Amino acid sequence: MDEKKAAGAARAADQPEAASAMMEASQPQPGAAALEARPQPGAAALEAQPQLGTAPRSADEPDAAPQPRPAVSRRAFALGAVGFAGLFAVGGAGVAFNGERALLRPPGAQDEDAFLANCLKCDKCRSICPQDCISVGVLEDGIVNFRTPKMDFRKGYCTFCDKCTQVCPTKAVLPFDENVEKIGVAVIDASQCIAYEKNGCQKCVDACAYDAVHLDDAGRPVVDAGVCNGCGQCEYVCPSSSFRSYSGSKNRGINVERSAQGGTR
Ligand code: SF4
Ligand code: SF4
Ligand code: SF4
Repeated sequence: MDEKKAAGAARAADQPEAASAMMEASQPQPGAAALEARPQPGAAALEAQPQLGTAPRSADEPDAAPQPRPAVSRRAFALGAVGFAGLFAVGGAGVAFNGERALLRPPGAQDEDAFLANCLKCDKCRSICPQDCISVGVLEDGIVNFRTPKMDFRKGYCTFCDKCTQVCPTKAVLPFDENVEKIGVAVIDASQCIAYEKNGCQKCVDACAYDAVHLDDAGRPVVDAGVCNGCGQCEYVCPSSSFRSYSGSKNRGINVERSAQGGTR
């Protein structure tokens, strides 16, 4: 276990993408002289509406040229965009949007409602994790999940060192008993597992420190969902993605899933 921890600690932490917004520059309006309107029959009845930020036009100006678009509309747009971005930042748009992914949370953050209510998205847990197994949610994960911490066992696995719990300023990540609680449960993906195609690989079996994976009579890995705590070490060591780099699947032969009951798919 010490060698595995040391290997995990050596990997550099990735930096979250910084969100940015750019406001498109407004286009100048055609000159009034070029667009001077010809008097039309019934022009008085089609009097233009007063423009925001401009003086009201009088009824005896039927041939008035089109007015420039008021800057206030651009300001309103910008304020709206800022407000929307604010919703992204605090997760407040969750009521309006669905499609949130069920993410694997750091150990001790499995009560999703309590976690989302308390997490500040301050990044402290990700920054301190010596195993580099905490990542952050991207927009693909959903608006509420955006920039919240999630487990990523492609870069490391959890050793239950408790550092993320200790550094969390709001107790969104609580103390965790690795022998009782679960981050998730490992599930075999038979379409990706090397042992399902040809025997010989048992890296997940050898890596699991909790004896939660064993080989069946056919030499294929089977997860004991009751024992697995979702530490992610099996997913981390599984070589299937390099073996099957042509497959296009994001899965490895074994993957920890949040709501899974274990098993093989
Ligand atoms: S307990 Fe937290 S800080 Fe420690 S390895 Fe697991 S996720 Fe990282
Ligand atoms: S390490 Fe991956 S490919 Fe190898 S047996 Fe386990 S799940 Fe299958
Ligand atoms: S099966 Fe995988 S996730 Fe589950 S305890 Fe073993 S190494 Fe950890």
